[in-house]
Amino acid sequence: MGLEEKLPSGILLTSVEKLAGYARKSSVWPATFGLACCAIELMATGGPRHDLARFGMERASNTPRQADLMIVAGRVSQKMAPVLRQIYDQMSEPKWVISMGVCASSGGMFNNYAIVQGVDHIVPVDIYLPGCPPRPEMLLDAIVKLHDKIQNMKLGANRERQITELEQARLRRLPLLPHLRAEAEQ
Ligand code: SF4
Repeated sequence: MGLEEKLPSGILLTSVEKLAGYARKSSVWPATFGLACCAIELMATGGPRHDLARFGMERASNTPRQADLMIVAGRVSQKMAPVLRQIYDQMSEPKWVISMGVCASSGGMFNNYAIVQGVDHIVPVDIYLPGCPPRPEMLLDAIVKLHDKIQNMKLGANRERQITELEQARLRRLPLLPHLRAEAEQ
């Protein structure tokens, strides 16, 4: 007989990891970081038609210290890159990044020296969102997928084990020379 059968009905059993994941995903606070035309779609997502408040995310933070999600909406110029990184560094842990639109993800049609060819050169990206510009529905879909990722995030030793496993799986996919592969597998 399991413990839950001894408890009165209405008691919910869960793990600390699941509870922390649920609390985190339900209280993500985005930093306002609109850089170009994609920011208009980002603003539309917060409006009454798409209603970002449904996900507990209507509070856009004007200080990075009270934000844990950076939505990079638009192309990142070389001049803006250090500012973006500084804001990311000031955000509270754990933190996540959505790269919104083809310009933020890869430079897009701006294949020139003035634009960073992908914001992942500056900050680690959790979700890449395609499109020019992505519609608010696409951003909401990315946010729901990020929530799923946050909900299933491991804690403590479990998290370190998960990171090691992911790194090893990534190394196995790389076309390494045999002696480098042997080193990586040690
Ligand atoms: S992806 Fe399109 S809409 Fe977004 S910043 Fe680039 S040009 Fe503008």
